[in-house]
Amino acid sequence: MAGLTIRNVIKKYGNTQVMHGVDLDIEDGEFIVFVGPSGCGKSTLLRMIAGLEDLSGGEISIGDRVVNEVPPSKRGVAMVFQTYALYPHMTVFNNMAFGLKQVKTPPAEIDRRVNEAAKILEIEDYLDRTPRALSGGQRQRVAIGRAIVREPEVFLFDEPLSNLDAALRGQTRLEIARLHERLGSTMIYVTHDQVEAMTLADKIVVLRGGRVEQVGRPMDLYEKPQNLFVASFIGSPSMNFFEAEMSENGVSIGGANPVSTSKLDKAAVTVGVRPEHLILCPQAEAALSGKIDVVEQLGDHVLLHMATNDGLEFVAKMEKAPTLSRGEVLHFKAKEDTIHLFDKSSGIRLD
Ligand code: ADP
Repeated sequence: MAGLTIRNVIKKYGNTQVMHGVDLDIEDGEFIVFVGPSGCGKSTLLRMIAGLEDLSGGEISIGDRVVNEVPPSKRGVAMVFQTYALYPHMTVFNNMAFGLKQVKTPPAEIDRRVNEAAKILEIEDYLDRTPRALSGGQRQRVAIGRAIVREPEVFLFDEPLSNLDAALRGQTRLEIARLHERLGSTMIYVTHDQVEAMTLADKIVVLRGGRVEQVGRPMDLYEKPQNLFVASFIGSPSMNFFEAEMSENGVSIGGANPVSTSKLDKAAVTVGVRPEHLILCPQAEAALSGKIDVVEQLGDHVLLHMATNDGLEFVAKMEKAPTLSRGEVLHFKAKEDTIHLFDKSSGIRLD
């Protein structure tokens, strides 16, 4: 097992720079998730760690060893791809054994490792089948098994659940979490799905445009996003934002009553409130009022898509809601200590 150090890593394709000096410290045994929108550089960074892409600048170390010039097979990493990348004509056993045979692992040792991995992943009954005779979920387990048998210091996962249907995605996500508990290895996992990031990660790295926006534990990012981008990316449905004015009594977000908050020297701020932190209240106490546009009934909760008189849209998430219909006016306040304040021009967190 090993941790990683990433120092000022830069990547250029021709004249286009796509990574702009990334610094990261990953501890031994941590589960790290790189998350961000498509094109932000998640896969590129993962592939640079794997040795599948050269660095244009900076340094990557795995354990104490700088690996910039070390070929992929000698880095002690194993990668699981979105597309599984299995050999179609080989049995499951041989797919898992292939890498070990190539490095001349003794057959008894190959048997031991493949059988052990198959047991962990509950694919022992399929070892003689070819991938064609497996479901998508089983194929992905074989791909993970192929990584496990190599006993890597670091596991790298590139969107491993993207090709699975929703139910299987949930189940496989849980299996990956269990695998991490069991093996205790360092794992780096790329996804654009913030739910996967929140549920799997010890530490999330939010990327945008080839830069790190924030690194932190899932709940740190949820509770204290450092800027508007992270605030809007983490959490579902997304945080609501309001342009607002600070006054003596707090911050006004459109309703009659300001929300009390620590005093800031800024007059104009952007206020963020998560849909789950808005609560219904009498008009006299309201910080925000609006008309119902759409009601989404989701069983255990309801999403109310609202519009203010000024046409500003926001979402409120309720566990239960009174009988509601489009056009009805509702009044809200924010639960205590749940609002987020950001500098209007830079988007950086203020409180
Ligand atoms: P993500 O995994 O976050 O979706 P990528 O790491 O795949 O993003 O890509 C990051 C950026 O690098 C994107 O703008 C993408 O277009 C660019 N890019 C990736 N691979 C290449 C390549 N081989 N040549 C040129 N540009 C590339």
